[in-house]
Amino acid sequence: MQSFDLVILGGGMVGLSLALALADTSLQIAVVDPHLPAPLDAERDFSLRVSAISASSQHFLDALGAWSGILSQRLQSYQTMHVWEKDSFAKIDFDCQSVMTHELGHIIENDVIRDSLWQLIQSQSNVTILSENCLQIERGQREAWLRFEQAGMVSAQLIVGADGANSWLREQCHVPLTFWDYQHHALVATIRTQLPHQNCARQIFTPQGPLAFLPLPDPHCCSIVWSVPLARAEQLQAFSVEQFNRELAMAFDQQLGLCERVGELGVFPLRMRYARDMAGDRFVLIGDAAHTIHPLAGQGVNLGLTDARDLATTLRRLHEQGKDLGLHPHLRDWERQRKGDATLMIGAMEFFKRLFSGQHPAKKLLRGLGMELSNQLPMLKQRWIKQALGLGEPRI
Ligand SMILES: Cc1cc2nc3c(=O)[nH]c(=O)nc-3n(C[C@H](O)[C@H](O)[C@H](O)COP(=O)(O)OP(=O)(O)OC[C@H]3O[C@@H](n4cnc5c(N)ncnc54)[C@H](O)[C@@H]3O)c2cc1C
Repeated sequence: MQSFDLVILGGGMVGLSLALALADTSLQIAVVDPHLPAPLDAERDFSLRVSAISASSQHFLDALGAWSGILSQRLQSYQTMHVWEKDSFAKIDFDCQSVMTHELGHIIENDVIRDSLWQLIQSQSNVTILSENCLQIERGQREAWLRFEQAGMVSAQLIVGADGANSWLREQCHVPLTFWDYQHHALVATIRTQLPHQNCARQIFTPQGPLAFLPLPDPHCCSIVWSVPLARAEQLQAFSVEQFNRELAMAFDQQLGLCERVGELGVFPLRMRYARDMAGDRFVLIGDAAHTIHPLAGQGVNLGLTDARDLATTLRRLHEQGKDLGLHPHLRDWERQRKGDATLMIGAMEFFKRLFSGQHPAKKLLRGLGMELSNQLPMLKQRWIKQALGLGEPRI
């Protein structure tokens, strides 16, 4: 039987980050994922899945050595952000100069981040990659056991579930899940625009939901996240590309002129998920396995990377002290902190979603006044930007 200190189920952005953050320790780590990343073709089109990466996540990826790999591929920084409401005077602008940084964040294709982590992980002598599904898990007092078809039985002090929104580990450990449907489907696509994006991330709140245009490394290309109710998503999917382009440009107030969809349209049902336990004896959950939120503020993977970063710090300390990595009491502080952050983020997404729903004239007027007022208050805006960048004051 192979024996590891840590088995990480899931080699996505979050799982690989955790493995890499512990790669310089003497911990023996296994990363399990049935779908390993394929090499990226330099000539490929932009990928459908992109993430707005905060400064805090950038620092983490840099500390892991992965940022240079991302830079050597492709990414787009954005210096300004423009948010407004359809058919209203409400608008708010953010810019990086007000917080004295070079950018507000970066838009990066998910597979570029994953590839960069993957390139590094393969050369780590204490990390073993298992490319298969785990069939069964048992948790004992001193260790946990996993059964694989090819690798056979494997033991570990701690099993980490970084296996995404429909986490297998979460289910096996019978972790209760709080969830609700956002009543939105996110349509994602790459759009060629008539006018250049000028390194600005834009988001409009329409009566049906938010629509974001995220700048890509071509000045005339953006990645969109268009959140709409199911019926509208089905209608938009059924349209011809020309009709879709017209609807999109109209929904976006023609801010970047004519729009032309390049390639396929992806659709993701949006659901809030919150695992009521992020840790227990012999297991922890991180990233989307622990929580999923509405993409309107682009914070999902940033939250997951912070789970991984802080868990690595905790595990490193426990290892140095010679303590058992898999005992729940040893993981409680980390769990409390991470659940606190996830709850705050879930609350914030709910607040924004509710704030911008409803077309009652009085509510619209209040929204407009609130946004206008906030737009005039530099201190408040600076505080918001710092929070979004992950550079806010540490919470108690
Ligand atoms: C439309 C949309 C837009 C978004 N935009 C942003 C954004 O701008 N900024 C942001 O921060 N976040 C964004 N997010 C959220 C972000 O995409 C996710 O939070 C992130 O991908 C989660 O990463 P992860 O590694 O936790 O999970 P995943 O990326 O889902 O990776 C899970 C991995 O686990 C593997 N796996 C699955 N089952 C098993 C198993 N049984 N055993 C072993 N391995 C398994 C999978 O193969 C996969 O590799 C967005 C989400 C959506 C839907």
